[in-house]
This record gives sequence, C-alpha cells and structure tokens, in this order.
Amino acid sequence: MDFLPIFIDIRHKPVLVAGGGKVAARKVRLLRKAGGEVTVVAPELCEELAEQRAAGHIRHVARKFEAADLDTPVLIIAATDDREVNRAISEGARAARVPVNVVDDPELCGFIMPSIIDRSPVQIAISTGGSSPVLARLLRSKLESCTPATYGKLATLVNDYRDRVKERFADESQRKQFWEQILEGEVAELVFAGKEKAAREALSAAIASADPSGMPKGEVYLVGSGPGDPDLLTFRALRLMQQADVVIYDRLVSKQILELVRRDAELVYAGKERDNHTLPQEHINQLLVKYARKGYRVLRLKGGDPFIFGRGGEEIATLMEEGIGFQVVPGITAAAGCASYAGIPLTHRDHAQSCVFVTGNLKDGSLDLNWQALAHPNQTIVFYMGLHGVQTICTKLVEHGLAADTPAALVQQGTTPNQRVFTGTLASLPELVESNDVRPPTLIIVGSVVSLQDKLAWFEPVTTETEQKDIFSSNPGRDGKSEKR
Ligand code: SAH
Repeated sequence: MDFLPIFIDIRHKPVLVAGGGKVAARKVRLLRKAGGEVTVVAPELCEELAEQRAAGHIRHVARKFEAADLDTPVLIIAATDDREVNRAISEGARAARVPVNVVDDPELCGFIMPSIIDRSPVQIAISTGGSSPVLARLLRSKLESCTPATYGKLATLVNDYRDRVKERFADESQRKQFWEQILEGEVAELVFAGKEKAAREALSAAIASADPSGMPKGEVYLVGSGPGDPDLLTFRALRLMQQADVVIYDRLVSKQILELVRRDAELVYAGKERDNHTLPQEHINQLLVKYARKGYRVLRLKGGDPFIFGRGGEEIATLMEEGIGFQVVPGITAAAGCASYAGIPLTHRDHAQSCVFVTGNLKDGSLDLNWQALAHPNQTIVFYMGLHGVQTICTKLVEHGLAADTPAALVQQGTTPNQRVFTGTLASLPELVESNDVRPPTLIIVGSVVSLQDKLAWFEPVTTETEQKDIFSSNPGRDGKSEKR
C-alpha cells in the first residue's frame, strides 16, 4: 500500500487553497461540501471564486502565498499555475506537518485526492496512487452505475437502528448476520424504491420478531481458491469469502486472493509446506469445529481444488461426525490452471486420450507409484508436489518404458505474474530444473501434448523487473498465529 486511505473531518475547520483559478475553484467546491472553512490565497480570483467571495462563502487573501499562511489550516491544497510556488507550499506545509496536496503533481503531495462516489454518509474513494486519474475515473463510473443513489439513506437508517439491534443481539456474529439479511433483503429494497417509511416499519418488525436463539448456527465453507490468479475464483467462492467471519487459509492461497476476503474477518494461517505442516491436519480439523461451534461462518480456503491433493475429504469427514453444516466449493486445480496458462492442452485427439493426476511427494526418498500404469505413450501425466522428486520421476518413467525423448514440462507458479514454463524431455528436464533456480509451487506435465506448448503458449505474465517473492501466503513470521485485519 503506497497511501493510507482515510476520511478526514474538516467541518468548521480552517482549510487553505492557494491559487484562484478554475482548478482551485473545483477543490474549493469539494472542501466546502465537506464543511471546511475555506481561505483562498491568490492575487486574483476566477469568476466562480469571486462569486463565492461575494456571497461570503470563502475568505479571500488577495496576494501571493506566504509562509505565515501555514499557521492555521488543518489542510492545504496548492493549485497555483506556478510549479515553483507549488513546490514552496509543499515544502513549507510538510515542514509544518500540515497535510498538503498539490494538484496534478503527485511528487509534491503529502496526500492525494481520490476519485469519489458520494452517497453520503456512504462514500467510496478510489485511488490509483496518482498514477492514472483516468483509470480511477473509469473505475468510478463502473461503481457509480452499481451503487444506487439511495445508499446513503440506507446507511442513515442502519445508524438509527444500531443501538436497538445491539440490545436485541448480544452476540456479535448474530448481529452481523442480522444486518446482512436486512441489507440484502426487503428493507434495503424498500429504501432503494424510495419507501423509507415502509422500510423503517419492516426493520422495526424484523428486530421485534427476530429470535436470536434461532439464528443460523456456525458453518464451514470448504473453498478452493484456484492456482493463484484471483480472476479464476468462482462466483460462489467470492461470495462466501466476503461473508465469512473467520478464514483459515493455506500457504498456496495467493495474497491477492486473500485480499478479497472480508476486511474484518479473522485470519488464521494454517501453513502446509513440504515437510513442515505448520498446523497438523488433526489440529486444523478441530479448529474448524471450534470456530463453527462458536457460531462463526468459517471459510476454509485452499489452493486449487479442495478435493485434489487438498485433504478436503478428511476435513469434512470430521465436520460430519461433529454434526456441523458445511458446503464444498470446487476450485480450478493446479493442473487445469497451469496447463491452460502454459498452453499445454492436457488431452488432444492426436496426442493423449487420458490424463492422470499424481502426487510426486517423496516418502523416505522413494516414490510408491504404479509406474507401469503411468508410463503410457498416449497419456498425459501431471505430477503435483514433484519438484524435489523430478529426477526420480523422469528416471522411473523411462525405466518403465517411456522414451527418454518424451516431452516434459515444469510450470512454476502457474497463472501468476511469476509463471515460468520449462520444456524439455524426460532426459533433459531434471538438468533444466537444476540450472534454473526454480521456485515452488511447481507442476510437472509429461506426455506428447507438451510438444504443443511451443505453438500454443499465449499467456505472458506481466513481469516486473524483480520476481515477486510473495505471491503466495507463506509467511513464517505469522505461522499458526491468528490475526485481525
Ligand atoms: N489442491 C491443490 C493442490 C494442493 S497440493 C490443487 O487442486 O491445485 C500442492 C501442489 O499443487 C504444489 O506442490 C504444486 O505441485 C501444485 N500447485 C498448486 N498451485 C500451483 C501453481 N500456481 N503453479 C504450479 N503448481 C501449483
């Protein structure tokens, strides 16, 4: 995060605008809307500002900016057409520790002004960190169109009834659930339809008739988050991510995806690294039970698909035994995601009529797999967790009859900006991996379909200069600890 988004109360407080042109006038309008007492320092005023001065809405100091102007305001906007003057204001303000914005000059800004959607008291502020006001405006118009003008009224209504709801529901989680039902149900619709009186009556009735003891009990959502690219989430995954009270997530959930869970959800990192299961599986199972029993909606967030090398089956077996409600949301498994983004079709009429997913996790240095069944010329084999066993995998397949020149690929951090695809053969892949500082997670794909990659590769990761080190959630400093965001 480059900037901290905050909303500042400037009602009845002195604010300063340096500059008297149209740009300054635009800022003055905004500051006045937020209740600020505006002083404009400028030798001359444009028509709009002159009118405001005449109407007594603003104070005008008819001269150039001087250092003493910094003494009173709680906020300064520099909007003169002279960059040197703007720079002097910026430096002075920073020295005096007064927040300063220099219009259209991010470098000189102590704070930047967002693009705003105003449904007061509801406000949405959008920023691109100063990099593209046009992009911010585009985003704003999208959000404008899906944010009813009456949202503000809805917020006011909620505010009016907050204490009564608090009295009715002692339990915070029940309170949240009640408000969610209200804000997604009839009451909200009535407000949007302009029927505020009916909305208030409906809300009063809902509070009176609510039965806290009959509120839905805690439940668990076992959700697959796909291989990394947040765009590959399902609608249902996203909806549940935004409802959950507690999120228990694995290492292979990408950080970008984690950003999408409800802001005030409690986050619990459940780890799961090779040879270093941060929380033992049994502990995770019990954690799910514990939180659900408290009445929370628990999101168990996993990389890929929960039922493919995800131990999802074990987790829901425990929930079933304990009589806790749950649902399972499939995710795009690494094989599907990586194959698509690498340009390797897993099946192809001319190359492979079947495809198998195999774990390449070595137990005691040996791989206990049915190599005979795997080593088929018309079959694609996808190895999960195979990085450390790549040499063994390639050797065993050749030993069991696959040609040494069978095409083989390794996909690193598929679907993310760090995706890299290495293609070779069973003979050359181990050496390729060895010499290329490959980073997990990786997937190995073996079979003649890999030969198509050359032609079909389409995804070009937006590479930044340096590799992004923290695409996934692994964070040893936070292992096993729960935290609030
Ligand atoms: N349930 C997950 C798999 C968990 S096992 C799924 O359905 O995808 C973990 C293994 O998945 C990793 O060792 C790696 O082999 C593979 N994997 C997961 N995400 C990946 C990614 N973005 N790129 C490459 N491999 C990935």
